[in-house]
Amino acid sequence: MSKKDYYEVLGVQRGADEAELKKAYRALAMKYHPDRNPDDKEAEQKFKEISEAYDVLKDQQKRAAYDHYGHQAFEGGMGGGGAGGFEFRGNFSDIFDDLFGDFMGGGGGARGRGRGGAGRGSDLRYNLEISLEEAFRGKQENVTLATAVNCEVCLGTGAGKDTKPEECPTCHGAGKVRSQQGFFTMERACASCQGRGQIIKDPCRKCGGSGRIRKQKTLAVTIPAGVEEGTRIRLAGEGEAGSMNGPAGDLYIFLSVQSHPLFRRDGADIHCHVPIRMTTAALGGSIEVPTIDGTRTKLSIPAGTQTGNRFRLKGKGMSVIRSTMRGDMYVHATVETPVHLSKEQKDLLKQLDKTLSEKTSPESEGFFSKVKEIWDDLRE
Ligand SMILES: [Zn+2]
Ligand SMILES: [Zn+2]
Repeated sequence: MSKKDYYEVLGVQRGADEAELKKAYRALAMKYHPDRNPDDKEAEQKFKEISEAYDVLKDQQKRAAYDHYGHQAFEGGMGGGGAGGFEFRGNFSDIFDDLFGDFMGGGGGARGRGRGGAGRGSDLRYNLEISLEEAFRGKQENVTLATAVNCEVCLGTGAGKDTKPEECPTCHGAGKVRSQQGFFTMERACASCQGRGQIIKDPCRKCGGSGRIRKQKTLAVTIPAGVEEGTRIRLAGEGEAGSMNGPAGDLYIFLSVQSHPLFRRDGADIHCHVPIRMTTAALGGSIEVPTIDGTRTKLSIPAGTQTGNRFRLKGKGMSVIRSTMRGDMYVHATVETPVHLSKEQKDLLKQLDKTLSEKTSPESEGFFSKVKEIWDDLRE
């Protein structure tokens, strides 16, 4: 089965801007959301399609890759398990929270407090700065952070040796108590158990009864090749441990990419300003330029190259996330005027200068004849 065009899936024009995309996605996602269409396989499929289309088109770089190469740009990555599949889930949940957080109670609603006072652990944020080369190649990084983990002595229950948490006799495990005041029924957290629903007669000595201890944790994080400034990687369940054996939070790795002394990135493309000798620019020749993959590549410079001329090296740019494609590299020529000339060199240039004319320097000759015209006009 061939895949549908992403723009068609969202029902937008190819040139649609971010706001239009978001609006179209939001309307469709509301319509086909699985919560609103229980047991409807067709709606579920449709929901997946629009989420995938939006995931690609909302991202400038992925959109550029898609416009360029079509679905081919993501083959072998999307939903294929491994790092690719994982990343998609991460992004997916992000858009989901962004869009629905405000009127569906957000992710927090679904993951909120469980029964008996068990609470979900906090999400953690870890900022990671990588170089442009690392963003190009992808990277395995060991991330060490201090976090709350389940206490290994009581296994997260908070109860001391040979005891178990018991149901709170005041609230009978509900964590809250009701009282009648006139016509009103008041509900408040149970004071005997602080809303946990359980009491621990003999708390664990290691964690003081909280069930959690702070600990350094080291995680291996896979950063896929082609990541961009601001990319978030979500590691589900690697945040803080929940209280009373509640579910763990998530860890979000926020990536920033350092600026590079030679290369400037623009989506999948790399730009590099390269100084070129005046003589090479005039006569033509070949130069070697560095590339982001750490190698060098030959570039032939045509005779008559000017400052600002741009040369494209196809496929020598950045890697594109979840794809084997690469963007292009653009070399911007800056012609270098020679300095510290010897007398002999100056004499050679003077000889050359006498022979230059409108034919050899059309730009400057053209410019100065225009200037002359303007002066002549003013004099009249
Ligand atoms: Zn403990
Ligand atoms: Zn209680």
